[in-house]
Amino acid sequence: MRLFFNQILASQALCLCCQYQKQAKFGFCLACYQDLPHLTRPCLYCGLPLNEDNLCTCHPEDWPFIACLSAFEYQFPINKLIGQYKNQARLGLCQSFAQSLAAQIKKQKQPLPQLLIPVPLSPQKLAKRGFNQSLELAKDLGKILSIPVDYQLLQTVGQAKSQKELSKKQRQNLNAEQFYLSNKIQQTHIAIIDDVITTGATVKTIAQILQKQGVTHIQAWSIARVMTKQ
Ligand SMILES: [Zn+2]
Ligand SMILES: [Zn+2]
Repeated sequence: MRLFFNQILASQALCLCCQYQKQAKFGFCLACYQDLPHLTRPCLYCGLPLNEDNLCTCHPEDWPFIACLSAFEYQFPINKLIGQYKNQARLGLCQSFAQSLAAQIKKQKQPLPQLLIPVPLSPQKLAKRGFNQSLELAKDLGKILSIPVDYQLLQTVGQAKSQKELSKKQRQNLNAEQFYLSNKIQQTHIAIIDDVITTGATVKTIAQILQKQGVTHIQAWSIARVMTKQ
């Protein structure tokens, strides 16, 4: 009986974007889904779109990833929807974002990582928002792609109750972004999960921390990529 009602509910669910038509693809109606700013031909180094000649002006040595992938360009209406997801706790959007991103990852035919690590939030931001948008995204992606998620491995310095909890070596390794690893890493292939990649500075900083610990293959995945100039 419950299944029956769930099916009725699902069939009546409305598009997460226009909230008018029925859902048809990843929570959107077909028209809205087709109109989304899909990132169709990304440069695997920097995640920005390739030009007409399938080239990019980025310098591969600046990008420590085997693939930097986003489902969308950070443009309307995706920017608006991500804002609602984060700032109005519209958590129903998370699974749609994860499905769209998983489709992009499969389309780009990249080998899948052994572990997903979400970008952690500072305790202040977490307290204000009530949830970590990158962690929720990583959880849904992990379910879709059958990859475990570790949300404790990478932490912000503020997450340690005090600096005393960090070893001397960890304190020395602290960098400007104030991330640190709370444990040793077993895996050699990891994807960093962020909601939006803007300049790439955050995911690059994390990649450098992982590289120092022997992670040889790193990907960076996000819902949307801001179209910055190289
Ligand atoms: Zn729609
Ligand atoms: Zn590029």
